[in-house]
Amino acid sequence: MKIHILGAEVYNQIAAGEVVDRPYSVVKELVENAIDAGATEISVEIAGGGKSLVKVTDNGGGIEREDLAAAYLPHATSKLSRAEDLFGVRTLGFRGEAIASIAAVSKMKIVSRTAEGEGWSLASEGGKTGSILPAASPVGTEVTVEDLFYNTPARLKFLKSDAQEEGDVTNMMTRFALSRPDISFTYLANGKEKLKTHGEGLAAVLSTVYGTNILKELIEISADKHGIRLRGFLGNRNFSKPNRTYQSLFVNGRYVVNQTVSSAVTNAYASYLMKRQYPFYVLFLDLPPEIVDVNVHPNKTDVRFADNRLVYGTVYHVVSSVLDGNSRALEYVAPESASPAPPPTSSPMTYEEAKKELRFEVPVYTGKLGLGAASPASPPPLEVHSSAAYGISQAAQTPSGPDYFEENKQYLLGQEAAKKAQRVEVASLEYKGELFRTYLFYECGDDAYIVDQHAAHERLIYDRLREKMSRREVVAQPMLVPFLLPLNGSEFAFLETQFPLLEEMGFEIGDFGGNTVKVSAVPSDLMGMDLSSFFREVLESLESLRAIRLSDLLKDKLASAACKAAVKGGERLTEEEVRALLERMDGDMGLKCPHGRPVAVHLSKSEMEKLFKRIV
Ligand code: ADP
Ligand code: MG
Repeated sequence: MKIHILGAEVYNQIAAGEVVDRPYSVVKELVENAIDAGATEISVEIAGGGKSLVKVTDNGGGIEREDLAAAYLPHATSKLSRAEDLFGVRTLGFRGEAIASIAAVSKMKIVSRTAEGEGWSLASEGGKTGSILPAASPVGTEVTVEDLFYNTPARLKFLKSDAQEEGDVTNMMTRFALSRPDISFTYLANGKEKLKTHGEGLAAVLSTVYGTNILKELIEISADKHGIRLRGFLGNRNFSKPNRTYQSLFVNGRYVVNQTVSSAVTNAYASYLMKRQYPFYVLFLDLPPEIVDVNVHPNKTDVRFADNRLVYGTVYHVVSSVLDGNSRALEYVAPESASPAPPPTSSPMTYEEAKKELRFEVPVYTGKLGLGAASPASPPPLEVHSSAAYGISQAAQTPSGPDYFEENKQYLLGQEAAKKAQRVEVASLEYKGELFRTYLFYECGDDAYIVDQHAAHERLIYDRLREKMSRREVVAQPMLVPFLLPLNGSEFAFLETQFPLLEEMGFEIGDFGGNTVKVSAVPSDLMGMDLSSFFREVLESLESLRAIRLSDLLKDKLASAACKAAVKGGERLTEEEVRALLERMDGDMGLKCPHGRPVAVHLSKSEMEKLFKRIV
């Protein structure tokens, strides 16, 4: 297909914006081009988080010699020519922007060959192309991008650490592998293979990405209703995840984050999941392209539907029927041995036909999100960087966050004052017994104290751990059987950045391969802790922890999560333990557990008398 320059009348109708702002968006654009070129094998290689190298190789149709130079020009595309075409976009790219804007901020080289022609290469530096040279090449295209943003230091400075950028690329690649299970993807970072799929269908990709056990937890669905085709995998009712990184939606083959669909799914799960539990889903929604506007966001990660109610209603209806297991579910649950999902192509109905067909009652779509759903204030991880998508002027501003140091100082001063006021002489406290295996009662003159033994215990372990950490005296206690924690790309990338901190705390933790973390020792004070609940808590706060840079605050969070996991609820303490606990509290009745709950509650004799109306 010939590359031509879009006329201004078409170009001006396309939402403008930065296409490339991070390594992952470079990878995204180049892989999309490979997919658009009809490749069945795509290999991606990055180094230095994609900052020093991104190389994408495909076995697609290739670029003809006379089109090679045109590919570098802005608004040059072979995929769209008339404004009308915008309403039926079937390719992933169509703006003709990516190659030009990546080339402008890097050293790029394209080597390509079509089935009929010879191989040719054309390199550029900062957007300036050299001359076209003959090159040995198999049929297909190889695009190499080196030294991204080398000529725009402001943008380079804005990038995150190599590890974090790599994590985002890994996420992107995971999404590509899921979106096109018919394509073989190979992805390497710093020479290490991170992902490999074989074009053998979605179930195979899911096992590769999330582990072979995942399939036991998932329900495969396939529904065709009102011109909308919904297929993919849903987590069963009892399968939840601590954050939203396990949710993938592909609309007409394109990965998107969309509130209409995500709230429909979330609301369908609402009665099964608790707060801060998120459903797992990998869903493909195919509908007539004329009712989907992909042109809404510069990075094309959102879509607009001509009729939100139709989409919401259909998705909600299908997902809730499957989860409720009612008779209609049979219609939507795919048979056990479903063949590999075909790539999204045909849509059987037009929009008008679909609207006519919509007969079942759907809950009204309010645009509001249900329980635990994505809120605009906290977008899912892949979207976290989207503020940068609107250009550097905004991105380069220094965020004026709260002054943590000042906040901490004030907090500590306040704590100290409160502590002094609430200290009680330990020897004067008389133990009076326990209630509900949780509350310990003490009397002291005209005052009574009720101590929450679990909160107190947690607090004491926490203090001890913090102290040992600050003196670097933590003892790592090796485990007989190492603990393995399978994660997804972004979770792994996040946790990996915390390895040094966790090691400082006394964990022995490392990369087991395949996005799995291996824990082989824990801090001796935390022996017997519940590691899965500890890591679940850490990952739950993935987004907030990411925002916190002060390692001290981070340590606090980790330590408190660890302690919570170390204290078992509903356990009766011996009298000796009760005494030891109080002694270690040193009579401090103003203590709070690491999560901010009070350790002790004060009740005076006069308050008691008021309760019984002895005094008013
Ligand atoms: P767009 O994808 O929006 O058309 P790009 O700047 O990404 O714009 O690419 C410009 C053109 O270069 C494409 O339209 C396509 O013709 C050609 N091209 C880019 N990458 C490839 C590839 N991997 N294989 C074949 N052709 C490609
Ligand atoms: Mg493109």
